[in-house]
Amino acid sequence: MAPEQTEPPEQATSPNLSDQPEDDPDQQPRTPPEGRQKKYYCVKFFYEWCKTCSLCAAMCPKKVILLDEEGRPYIDDMDGCIGCRNCEIHCPDFAVTVKDRYPKRRRTNGSA
Ligand code: SF4
Ligand code: SF4
Repeated sequence: MAPEQTEPPEQATSPNLSDQPEDDPDQQPRTPPEGRQKKYYCVKFFYEWCKTCSLCAAMCPKKVILLDEEGRPYIDDMDGCIGCRNCEIHCPDFAVTVKDRYPKRRRTNGSA
């Protein structure tokens, strides 16, 4: 007696991704929400060393460094700083520092 003929099992096929609609949000690359890519900085002035020359204010491309009535620099709109460090580089008295406001934490593996 001849063995009964059976149909071969149906092969599993991977889905054809090109068939997915292009505007499917699950298939689009994820981008951070608007505003998350901007970097924020913190500019600090050391008034003990500052000689109120106003060079930092003159060198700031975003004009966020203002001068008070005594000529001392200050920043009202810190979010407007782009972190170019012009002020820090050109201060003749090392009286300015520019740092990342939210620095990334360093990864460590437990050793020093
Ligand atoms: S880092 Fe650049 S933008 Fe920020 S305060 Fe200094 S000069 Fe201005
Ligand atoms: S450049 Fe330096 S010394 Fe001159 S005003 Fe700015 S912080 Fe003060």
